Amino acid sequence: MPQDLRQVNLKLLSGEILYDYAIAVGNNAAWKCVGCKKTLLIGRTALIHEATWRSQVNCNNKKYNEDKRIKEECTKSYYVVPTDKNQGRTDRVIEIKRIPDDSKGVRREVY
Ligand SMILES: [Zn+2]
Repeated sequence: MPQDLRQVNLKLLSGEILYDYAIAVGNNAAWKCVGCKKTLLIGRTALIHEATWRSQVNCNNKKYNEDKRIKEECTKSYYVVPTDKNQGRTDRVIEIKRIPDDSKGVRREVY
C-alpha cells in the first residue's frame, strides 16, 4: 500500500493554528520546530485523551558556544493527536507544555 502523505494542522500553545503545517502518514507526523526553527521533528500518535511524558515529542535542539558548552537549548514539546482512538491515524499536532520525566508515567497533560 502506498504511504500517502497528508497535510495536517499544528496548534500552538497560544491557540494559533498553523494550517497544513505538518505532514502525516498513518499514525506518524513530521514538522519543523517553531521554536528553534531548525529541527525537523517526527513523532507518532499515542493516547487519544492525554499526552504523557513518554509520548511527547521534545525538540532539545542545542546551540553551542565556541568552547563547546551549551549556549541555548530548545525546550519546545509537541504531541501527535490521533483521530478517533488510541494510536489511531494522525489528526493534528499540538504544541504542549513540556511534561517532566517520570518513570512511572503518571504525569499527564490533558488537552
Ligand atoms: Zn526546537
